[in-house]
Amino acid sequence: MNNQPVIIGGGAAGLMAALCLAPQKTVLLCGGSLGGNAASGWAQGGIAAVVGPDDSLDLHIADTISAGAGLCDPATVARMIAGGPWVIETLLKYGANFGRNPDGSLALGLEAAHARRRIVHAKDATGAEVMRVLINAVRATPSITVIEQAVAEHVFVKDNTVQGVQFRVGHDVSIIPTSAVVIATGGVGGLFAHTTNPRTATGAGLALAARAGANLRDIEFMQFHPTALACGLDPMPLISEALRGEGAKFVDTSGKPFMNGNDLAARDIVARAVAAKYAAGEQVFLDARHLTAEKFPAVFAACRANGINPALQPIPVRPAAHYHMGGIAVNAQSESSVHGLFACGEAAATGLHGANRLASNSLLEAMVTGRDAAAAIAARPPRLLSDTPLLVQRPGADNLPMIREICSANLGILRSAAGLSQAIAQLSPLAQTSNAALLATLMAQAALRRTESRGGHSRTDYPRTNPALAQSFSCNIHDVPTMKIAA
Ligand SMILES: Cc1cc2nc3c(=O)[nH]c(=O)nc-3n(C[C@H](O)[C@H](O)[C@H](O)COP(=O)(O)OP(=O)(O)OC[C@H]3O[C@@H](n4cnc5c(N)ncnc54)[C@H](O)[C@@H]3O)c2cc1C
Repeated sequence: MNNQPVIIGGGAAGLMAALCLAPQKTVLLCGGSLGGNAASGWAQGGIAAVVGPDDSLDLHIADTISAGAGLCDPATVARMIAGGPWVIETLLKYGANFGRNPDGSLALGLEAAHARRRIVHAKDATGAEVMRVLINAVRATPSITVIEQAVAEHVFVKDNTVQGVQFRVGHDVSIIPTSAVVIATGGVGGLFAHTTNPRTATGAGLALAARAGANLRDIEFMQFHPTALACGLDPMPLISEALRGEGAKFVDTSGKPFMNGNDLAARDIVARAVAAKYAAGEQVFLDARHLTAEKFPAVFAACRANGINPALQPIPVRPAAHYHMGGIAVNAQSESSVHGLFACGEAAATGLHGANRLASNSLLEAMVTGRDAAAAIAARPPRLLSDTPLLVQRPGADNLPMIREICSANLGILRSAAGLSQAIAQLSPLAQTSNAALLATLMAQAALRRTESRGGHSRTDYPRTNPALAQSFSCNIHDVPTMKIAA
């Protein structure tokens, strides 16, 4: 396996990167089983792509930039959106069974802030279908060595250039010397007490990249989904936005609608409105009684498993940490500021989402960035590695219950200088050894630095958007004053 590219993460991004690298020999490290612990398999709504006759790349680009609240990188947006038809074509080639109209054309769903119906879906279990075909394709590709239950622990770097990766399977620690590592470890929702993400989504990949010296970008921007099922589960099942696309409405405890018809406004606006109801001691429901289990089988099944029948009663919902717009800063080749260290999917910050992700743009981004990282790696011959021995590192543990409490209290939908400063004071002493604490510290610092409200970042002490701050912030491990960094 020496000097083969190593991909960390078996979600849509990592699987697509591995498939696009074939027939080049590649190692795929999956933190769980192949496809396990991956948010990709949980995606409900679908994949945004310009495939409808009334749609255009320009319209999709305009919707994405408008949702991004002034921080999208227009060239990246154009490149990613142009990749949408390729993503759909590739998945269909692998055998994906997406919903169709009676005339055989793809059935397209509508989601918040999209000007057109452009969500390609497989009922309300699109992610499961995407993962089914990608996993089958990976299993059928002999050049990909899959290592399951393999948790990446360290990326070795010399002179700002990747040298290898350390991972653990149970108690067994291994090191693969390599000049190309792809981080595809997904999001960070597991840092919050209320989340729709797998609990393992604590941003370990971002912390590994930061410790390797890579720059992170836009990490203050967290998207909170307004409609997670409020039933006491951790993580919380998602109630897809597609229900509101089909006419479901928010109602309060007395059954009265309260969004003035804006039920499908951008996620940050809706999440704040729902959070305000909870702050006022009320509960919020989604009235979807006109919809059927036939159209939304996964949502109906999740509700019924928790004693709720959406056909007869409004669904109790509350906001939950859902998607991280920020991540490892990458260029158009998905490469970070460290040579040979690539990032794709939710772990990457490409400039597509800006301050707020447009719904269903993330599976699209996962697969386009996976493809782009693979193309960049394939285009260069493996580099000669340094002969400095790679010594086993001893990573520290994360006190997740405590970190989740701190993040939920201070880095949630509404933030303030006082709360963010308190979070930094509590978390930064742990950052030396804990990946979750390191990442949460960097997120809180970035949020403190952004003295305005924009997209997924809302400050009670700076409630307005400041046009002078319409730029991305980047940060790195040197920004954490408590870190002792080896020379
Ligand atoms: C409930 C839900 C619904 C969603 N619905 C949609 C939707 O309809 N449309 C859309 O576009 N997006 C949706 N999203 C977002 C989208 O699913 C994710 O952004 C996308 O799937 C991320 O893909 P990924 O490959 O980057 O990460 P993931 O799919 O999360 O995969 C990450 C992988 O990395 C592994 N990993 C993590 N850390 C390590 C480590 N240290 N070592 C080894 N492996 C590691 C994990 O085990 C996992 O295999 C949804 C998200 C959720 C949670």
